[in-house]
Amino acid sequence: MNTVDHWVAGRAFAGESSRTSPVFNPATGVVSRDVRLATSGDVDAAVAAATAAFAGWSGASWAKRQQVLFAFRELLNARKDEVAAILTNEHGKVTADALGEIARGLEVVEFATGIPYLAKGEYSENVSTGVDVYSTRQPLGVVGIISPFNFPAMVPLWFFPIAIAAGNTVVLKPSEKDPSAAIWMAELWKEAGLPDGVFNVVHGDKVAVDALLEHPDVASISFVGSTPIAKYIYETAAKHGKRVQALGGAKNHMLVLPDADLDLVADSAVNAGFGSAGERCMAISVVVAVEPVADDLVEKIASRMSTLTVGDGTRGCDMGPLISREHRDKVAGYLEIAETDGAEIVVDGRGIEVDGADDGFWLGPTLIDRVPTDSAVYTDEIFGPVLSVVRVATYEEGVALINFSRYGNGTAIFTNDGGAARRFQREVNVGMIGINVPIPVPVGYFSFGGWKDSLFGDTKAYGPDAIHFFTRQKAITSRWLDPSHGGINLGFPQN
Ligand code: NAD
Repeated sequence: MNTVDHWVAGRAFAGESSRTSPVFNPATGVVSRDVRLATSGDVDAAVAAATAAFAGWSGASWAKRQQVLFAFRELLNARKDEVAAILTNEHGKVTADALGEIARGLEVVEFATGIPYLAKGEYSENVSTGVDVYSTRQPLGVVGIISPFNFPAMVPLWFFPIAIAAGNTVVLKPSEKDPSAAIWMAELWKEAGLPDGVFNVVHGDKVAVDALLEHPDVASISFVGSTPIAKYIYETAAKHGKRVQALGGAKNHMLVLPDADLDLVADSAVNAGFGSAGERCMAISVVVAVEPVADDLVEKIASRMSTLTVGDGTRGCDMGPLISREHRDKVAGYLEIAETDGAEIVVDGRGIEVDGADDGFWLGPTLIDRVPTDSAVYTDEIFGPVLSVVRVATYEEGVALINFSRYGNGTAIFTNDGGAARRFQREVNVGMIGINVPIPVPVGYFSFGGWKDSLFGDTKAYGPDAIHFFTRQKAITSRWLDPSHGGINLGFPQN
């Protein structure tokens, strides 16, 4: 069986650890390879390689770095089918969705190619007589990135193109559940001409993560994953003096006003609820229907769900399997909770017929109506193909529900009333808002991130925030000596 190695200093690296973890094909339930789990010594080796590469890479001209970014962009675009196949094999998402993931990652690479413009400093001439002030932005050093299973290519791509473009060197710790895309991208960087040691990958679990969080030569941590781990990452990395951004979990609501086009709403709810088997941090998991539309809407959603095909992602189905057997069982467990808590299961995904192997990690699209807001079905992030419906009497009741949630990643309103949408955008305490758009992921030149327990730290991913996160500003005050300005003066210069 294949073992997925780390990638250090431009080549595969086995490291010293004897621990490994199985990597499954979720559509068959079969282990296809295993992945090494790094020791802290293996992490040291990756950080040492990144540290050694920093002087050369940060000293390279903007033009040189931009050229490597362009080469990487061209290679990724030309060979995206290869990495999409890896994503489907290890994550289970269908091919079209895997290609969509690469497309969103490419946007960030394209944004990063503009780095000479984006990282420009400022200049003020003659702030005091003969004195100029200007600023530059410089890279941080070695930056750590820790990513989740659900976007094995896109989430790392949210961070490393900009980090690298800005002159940093990188140690990426991808999810151990689907580690191969990271290695594929490392090989691509090499082909694009990136010097060895600028981009390194260590695989692993908590041992590797803790080693990165505590390492004195790691300047920053960018994390994406579940909320409890995000909080831990934020606190631990900050305690070790690092700059940190930690994006957490979500529970995204779609508020449907009575004037909305219910066919558009039903299409959007199905797309946003069941795409990638609901394993998206921007998936819609709760439809909040303002009465009297709920009965109609539930019927329209259910009838669309009956047309969805579930199966192996390579076979042209709409939806693939979940990431693991444990996760599938955990998600299915929420259907039992729903029954106990008095909700109504309208479409039951258990026991669905699939186009794929019997042992795949399957759960079909599920719709649960009249979910009580004190049920764990409503309060927990389920992260699977389970769409809940909550019925409210007014717009105000719907907004209050959304604002009461501990999460604030994404939300959407569906309405034909511009005034209501405008009011919603002001009143709702959520970081990313869709108006008749169910998954409002900002394009690459805006920044991505939620509020509340969906983001710890004050900087979002990619876009302008990332330029800020991956660089430090220096302000320089300069005067070229002129005898007319000599003499002793203990005050601030005034004119
Ligand atoms: P996870 O928190 O289990 O794992 C994320 C990363 O943390 C992985 O690399 C994993 O190896 C590591 N990790 C796991 N347990 C750890 C521990 N105890 N100590 C240190 N490190 C640990 O998340 P996941 O299951 O891979 O991904 C799904 C979660 O990610 C969901 O909650 C989803 O909402 C969230 N997510 C959020 C965003 C966002 O932008 N806010 C985007 C994608 C995914």
